[in-house]
Amino acid sequence: MGIDGNNILAESLKRQGIEYVFGIVGIPVIETSLAFQAAGLKYIGMRNEQAACYAAQAIGYLTGKPGVCLVVSGPGLLHCIGGMANAQVNCWPLLVIAGSCPEDHEGIGGFQEWLQVESSRQYSKYAARPPSPRLIPLHVEKAIRYASSGRPGVAYLDMPATLLTAEADEDKVPLDYYSADPVSLAHPNPVLVNEAADLLSKAERPLIIVGKGAAYGKAEEAITKLVENIKVPFLPTPMGKGVVPDESQYCVSTARTQALLGADVILLLGARMNWMMHFGQVPRYAANVKIIQVDIAPEEFHNSVKSEVAVHSDIKPFVEALTNKLAEKKFSLQNNSPWWQALKEKQKKNTEFVKAQAADKSLPLNYYAVFKAVQENIPKDSIIVSEGANTMDIGRGILLNNKPRHRLDAGTFGTMGVGPGFAVAAAQWCRDHAPDKRVICVEGDSAFGFSGMEIETMFRYKLPVIIVIVNNNGIYSGFDKEMMTEIQNSGDLAQCTPPTALSTEVRYEKMMEMFGSSGHFCRTVEEIENALKSAIKVTDRPSIINIAINPQSNRKPQTFNWLTESKL
Ligand code: ADP
Ligand code: MG
Repeated sequence: MGIDGNNILAESLKRQGIEYVFGIVGIPVIETSLAFQAAGLKYIGMRNEQAACYAAQAIGYLTGKPGVCLVVSGPGLLHCIGGMANAQVNCWPLLVIAGSCPEDHEGIGGFQEWLQVESSRQYSKYAARPPSPRLIPLHVEKAIRYASSGRPGVAYLDMPATLLTAEADEDKVPLDYYSADPVSLAHPNPVLVNEAADLLSKAERPLIIVGKGAAYGKAEEAITKLVENIKVPFLPTPMGKGVVPDESQYCVSTARTQALLGADVILLLGARMNWMMHFGQVPRYAANVKIIQVDIAPEEFHNSVKSEVAVHSDIKPFVEALTNKLAEKKFSLQNNSPWWQALKEKQKKNTEFVKAQAADKSLPLNYYAVFKAVQENIPKDSIIVSEGANTMDIGRGILLNNKPRHRLDAGTFGTMGVGPGFAVAAAQWCRDHAPDKRVICVEGDSAFGFSGMEIETMFRYKLPVIIVIVNNNGIYSGFDKEMMTEIQNSGDLAQCTPPTALSTEVRYEKMMEMFGSSGHFCRTVEEIENALKSAIKVTDRPSIINIAINPQSNRKPQTFNWLTESKL
């Protein structure tokens, strides 16, 4: 019996445990998508390849198994490149599969001909074109292994039209090529566990930083136990939120600057000392701070600052071993230690500022008042997708996560436009694996604009994502209608319109009218509350809640100027 490349590819993916494919089809992958569905894979057709690529990588982060992004040749693949870079930089598993022009058209100006494998190589750990239909299963296994083992990342498979339609003898195709099940956990060297325990137990001002590597490594139980045993303050990174609940008494997010600055020993669990962590350097950290770094990727060791102890291990077995060692030493930090006292004082002060802002309901609303209303009216343990500059930064402190892998945002690459794609994936995953859980997609108006048309994807697949648009008429900040009119009347539009401005009073919620439905436009806290209450009742389509806020609303004054401290 003959079997063609499309069906070999579909069967191979299925047997390697792939569950979801996101993509946009056209020549030559329409039959491929049909073969995928016939093999039992779930296929979600999207409106923009970049969003499809974001959706597929969100599945990888949420489940540990890469999502597949299926696209057409040439421009189809090139539109994915931003998404591939995002997944690589975030260390998230992803498998991109693109059709490509027939091999006998290569070099003579084939339709959508492009050097696809070469183009993908910079953005992936593995990029290959299977040389024959018989070898597809081997390359699928390898691609998935590369994407999901070690430090996760991207794999690319190139599928020429000729390969997709070529037939092979079914008996000769090794469909049951060995499985790309995750490799067993990497355990730490016990000598290094001892060193880490020694250092930590002698610290006066210890701090634990929990990154999204810990979330990806499913280390939540182990880390929560460690924190509760040793009573040491911890700081989650943006997507490390929820590994230990944000509402834990040991979470010091509200005194972040102080915690980083004061710590004498830092236990770094699945986070990188990059821009997000201010490079681990002065002036954001003490000059002599000692770092215990735990990472699955030893090439990450000593990045920017030298670690005192660098442990090559999965987070979970390391933390379990460390917890045992520290129990032997009977180490735990006293509640009334000067370190805890200082942090608590700072937490109190910062919390008061936020409370006062949030209580200010004067119109147009400020960010804090909006996020308080959102936080108080969304179901507990919803998955929160968030992007936009101020929207994401201010929202992070107020929208709480008490469960791991429940926050998806612009991430290490600071990518805007990820929200709708992430939300599609999260909502589809919830439908299949956690039907009572909701996805709340909190977007700045600018961020929403990148991929807003994915609202049609959500509608088509009946995904009840609640999209909250925090609308300030611009990028970072905007202008009100009168001001904008005045500015635009002052000269040539392309010369006087501020580059950060967007149109004022845009009624994004009316996009729901395209589907014969309706959205919510809010100016007050009460309107936000009512809109959320009614959106939560809707379970068979997305909702849009468009909130007009003060275009000049801003974040709390910061001690340090973000990103702009020069190192030169
Ligand atoms: P954050 O943005 O939260 O700081 P990063 O993406 O910068 O997180 O860092 C995550 C780190 O976690 C990466 O260096 C990655 O190699 C590491 N990592 C991923 N999975 C694991 C795991 N299972 N065990 C240990 N480290 C991991
Ligand atoms: Mg905006």
